[in-house]
Amino acid sequence: MSDEIDNNINDNNESNEIVNKPVEDNNTPDEPKDREEVCSMCRRTESQVKRMFKLHPGLCICDDCMQKTMDTLSGGGSLSILGITPRDKENDDDTLNIKANLGDISSLSNMLFGELPTVPMNQRLKKKKPAVKNNEDEVQAKFDIKNLKPPHVIKAELDDYVVGQEHAKKVMSVAVYNHYKRVFDKNEDGVELEKSNMLMIGPTGCGKTYMVKTLAKLLNVPLAIADATSLTEAGYIGDDVESVLSKLLVAADNDVERAEKGIVFIDEIDKLAKKHTTNSRDVSGESVQQGLLKLLEGAEVEVPVGAMSKNAMVPMTTMDTTNILFICGGAFPELDKIIKQRLNKTSACGFLGELSDKYDDDKNIAGKVELQDLRDFGMIPEFLGRLPVVFSLDGLKQEDMVRILTQPRNAILKQYKKLLSMDEVALEFEDGALSAIAEKALKRDTGARALRAIIEEIMLDIMYEIPKDDSIGKVVITEDYVANNGAPRIILREGH
Ligand code: ADP
Repeated sequence: MSDEIDNNINDNNESNEIVNKPVEDNNTPDEPKDREEVCSMCRRTESQVKRMFKLHPGLCICDDCMQKTMDTLSGGGSLSILGITPRDKENDDDTLNIKANLGDISSLSNMLFGELPTVPMNQRLKKKKPAVKNNEDEVQAKFDIKNLKPPHVIKAELDDYVVGQEHAKKVMSVAVYNHYKRVFDKNEDGVELEKSNMLMIGPTGCGKTYMVKTLAKLLNVPLAIADATSLTEAGYIGDDVESVLSKLLVAADNDVERAEKGIVFIDEIDKLAKKHTTNSRDVSGESVQQGLLKLLEGAEVEVPVGAMSKNAMVPMTTMDTTNILFICGGAFPELDKIIKQRLNKTSACGFLGELSDKYDDDKNIAGKVELQDLRDFGMIPEFLGRLPVVFSLDGLKQEDMVRILTQPRNAILKQYKKLLSMDEVALEFEDGALSAIAEKALKRDTGARALRAIIEEIMLDIMYEIPKDDSIGKVVITEDYVANNGAPRIILREGH
């Protein structure tokens, strides 16, 4: 009988346009047509169901849920409550006498589904483009192997933004180039290219996140930055590992296809190290490393759309992580001790034995890292095995700090010069002032991050006072001013 109801509703085209029309025809002008609708009851997306019925703007029901609702109502005899006369027993033509009563179908939908929440736009997925078999280039028009930048070009572009870190930039450019070659490889010769996920080791504020951000911008791929400390094993308070993919999906504007070629950066990865002295379950350390294994390797993962955690109210989609580039970064404090210990052990024995303090002053000790050291640190071998490209970044020295202040394309001093030029005032920093700022920043031990804070402090009064006085033509920041021993030099405009 419920089938009949459905059929009847479908037969009722004129009186029942709202219910009967598939969603594509029903998009209101303010709703983008490239988004998939989501069933308000079962939260499945349009591509996962046979048909979707739009009852109100933002309120859609899939055919299964519609069917179930009708079944429930007809089984319990509730149709009459809704003003629908059930089957006419005297009349043997097996039709339902609902035509007249369904005159106002929107009020019916209100009664049936009025309480259901509408699905917000940020939970709607972008529709997949149909794959054009003979013209595959068209599908990947924007980002394909022909547009892929070679490593030297990627490195040169990184140079415009990132100061120093020559080795890291080189390793990264090559790894990224190889990764995207692999993504676009059609694997016709049977040689399967392996994934080049990366592990970056470097002290805080040396540019790990900044390099990844810059890289994603240059390649025009979506980027998700996640903090490993907020991740926990599924079922515990905190974010599941899949939440990193949700972030990537958001960064790709809910376009699954684009997200599947994106980059995920997981910061503070060293915080996931296995705890050596614990009897309880390590839900935020080793278990998270285990949880990340399948993502790093490449798997089909169910991901909540537009939310960080899975629950009944959030639509889900499937994402393939095979072509997602994972970059993990961490400061790995105390790793240098582990490396030194290993190096001393190997060099202290035999006739060629060396002094045990040989490596104490070695500034580039992190560059000598081996997988064994990371294992001793607490990373599990399976996890390390999925991050084949391991490299370290150097701690920033004073001259690097000065260059970071002035050289990158959007260097902080350039930004302040631009701000003041809008007031037609020139800004100059004496060399001594730059060195003093770099010196101050080094003392804070937070890498280049300290520079911004120091500049903000120095510039606050200047930015406040200058707009007051039209006669000021130029401000020179002196070393004394940085050391809190005086005022900046002010040069007045001609004629004042
Ligand atoms: P972390 O290594 O802790 O991830 P970040 O990459 O977040 O550090 O660096 C903080 C800020 O310092 C960046 O936003 C960037 O402006 C600046 N910075 C750090 N290192 C460099 C660098 N090598 N070149 C240019 N800017 C840098």
